[in-house]
Amino acid sequence: MLFDLRPKQRREDIFDRKKEFEELERSVSTYPMTLLLGIRRVGKSSVLRAYLSGNPGILIDCRELYAESGHITKEDLIRELQSKGNLLQRILSKFKVSLDLKFLNLEPKEASLREIFRELNEIGEKTGRFIIAFDEAQYLRFYGSRGGKELLALFAHAYDTLPNMRLILTGSEVGLLHDFLGIADYESPLYGRIAGEVYVEPFTPEVSREFLKTGFEEAGINVSENIINSTVKTLDGIPGWLVLFGVEYLGSRDFEKAIGRTLETARGLILGELRELEMRTPRYVEILRAIALGYNRWSILRDYLEVKGVRTPEPRLYELLKNLRKMGWITEKNGTYQLMDPLTKIALLD
Ligand code: ADP
Ligand code: MG
Repeated sequence: MLFDLRPKQRREDIFDRKKEFEELERSVSTYPMTLLLGIRRVGKSSVLRAYLSGNPGILIDCRELYAESGHITKEDLIRELQSKGNLLQRILSKFKVSLDLKFLNLEPKEASLREIFRELNEIGEKTGRFIIAFDEAQYLRFYGSRGGKELLALFAHAYDTLPNMRLILTGSEVGLLHDFLGIADYESPLYGRIAGEVYVEPFTPEVSREFLKTGFEEAGINVSENIINSTVKTLDGIPGWLVLFGVEYLGSRDFEKAIGRTLETARGLILGELRELEMRTPRYVEILRAIALGYNRWSILRDYLEVKGVRTPEPRLYELLKNLRKMGWITEKNGTYQLMDPLTKIALLD
C-alpha cells in the first residue's frame, strides 16, 4: 500500500527505486561500509528496511536512541542490540544456523560491543554476511563522551577484521555524516576506509505523477489528471509529502482540503526541525528565511542580514552557509542558494 505514512518494510510496497536497490546491493557486496544518503522524507528508511527484509541484518534507529536523553551511552546501544534478540533468533532459524548468542543474556554493563560485533559476524559466517544498519547515523556523534570516536574505532575494527559484517549508515544530514565519519580526516579512526555511497533522490515530476496515480489506483479511486499535476507542482518530488497528500485525499476526496492539510502538516513538521536548528544558532533560520524570500546570492544575502540587524561577519556567514549545505537544508548552484525542500518556504514565511 503506497499511501501509508510509515516507512515501508517490504520491497513490494516501495514504488520505483530499482536503481537504488541495485546500487545498494552492489555496494554492500563490494564495501564493508555503505552510506545511504538523501534528504529527509525521501525514502532512505523505507529502502533500507525493505533491503533488510531480504537480507540477514538488524537496524538501529539512532535518532530514536538520541531523542530519549539527548545523548547515547554504550549501555543504550547494547540494550538496543539486545532488543533485536527475537529477530536474530528468526534469522538463525531461517538459515538453519545453530549459534548461541551470548550477548543476549548479559547485563549491558558487562557486555562489550566488540564481542557483540564478533558474535554477529559469526552469524554472517553462516549466512554469507550480516548487516548492521544505523539509521540517521549522524546522531552517533552524540555517543559517549568523545563525539562518537569510540564507535568509529569499533567500525574501523569491524571494517578491517570482520569479513562477514557489513555496515550501512544512512544520513539526512549528508555533510554532517561525512564529517563525523572522517574518512578523509587522518585524525579519524576511520581514515582511509572507503565506503560505498548510494544516493536516494527525490522523484522526478514524471515519477511523482506515476507514484500518485499508482497510489490512487491501488485505493480504487479515480483522480483527474488536473489534480495529479497540481499536486506535483505544489509538493515537488519528495515521497513523504506525496504520501501525506494521498492519505489526506483518500480521507476527504477534496483537493483543496487535502492539499491544505498536507501543507499544514508539512509546515508543522518543518517548524519542529527549524526549532531544533534555531537552538544551534538563530542565524541559521534567518539565513533560510532570506533565501526563501529570494535573497539567494552571497552579496544580497549579506546585505539583507545587515539591514535586518543580524550582524554576521563574512567568514561567519560563509561558515553558516556551508553548514546549512552539510545539513541538507540548501544547495548552491552557480552562486545561487536554493532550499532543498521547497516546502521549507511555507514554514519560514509566516
Ligand atoms: P527518510 O528515511 O528518507 O526520511 P522514509 O523512508 O521515512 O524517508 O519515507 C518517508 C515517507 O515516504 C514514508 O511515509 C514512506 O512510506 C514514504 N515513501 C518513501 N519512499 C517511498 C517509495 N519509494 N514508495 C512508497 N512510499 C515511499
Ligand atoms: Mg528515515
